[in-house]
Amino acid sequence: MKRKESVNSAGSFLLRIMEQARISTRYKDVADKVIAEHEDLHWLDTASVSIGFLASDKSKKSKGREVLGECIKVRDLYRAYIPHEFIVVIYEPNVSYLTDEQLEILIYHELLHVGVDDTTGEPRLQIVPHDIEDFRKVIDRYGIDWSR
Ligand SMILES: [Zn+2]
Repeated sequence: MKRKESVNSAGSFLLRIMEQARISTRYKDVADKVIAEHEDLHWLDTASVSIGFLASDKSKKSKGREVLGECIKVRDLYRAYIPHEFIVVIYEPNVSYLTDEQLEILIYHELLHVGVDDTTGEPRLQIVPHDIEDFRKVIDRYGIDWSR
């Protein structure tokens, strides 16, 4: 944890910086490779969807489990400051054990979250939710398509 000291007229405060992230050209390079290798992602290039990549130093957890990465849609309001439509964050302390191939799969996963909502007749970029929620035991025993 890092601290930044800040003083104002009311006295001294300690502001804790809980997470620091930097722009990652490495993950951008991996993403370019992944997009080239996956036909279902080629539209990202065709439509010039702008995606930024961050490496975070946070060991993020959610519901007791480590989060490896995350894909966030940048709110329209923030676009003046953030020159991307989406940000992919990789939580580096949680991915140190991944092989290069596993990292590519993780980035493929994150890029699959980028989608288009065209149900209103006016296509808009959106976050695509996961389509699988199940128990590992069920998938191990019955396969991922057990309900079809
Ligand atoms: Zn996901």
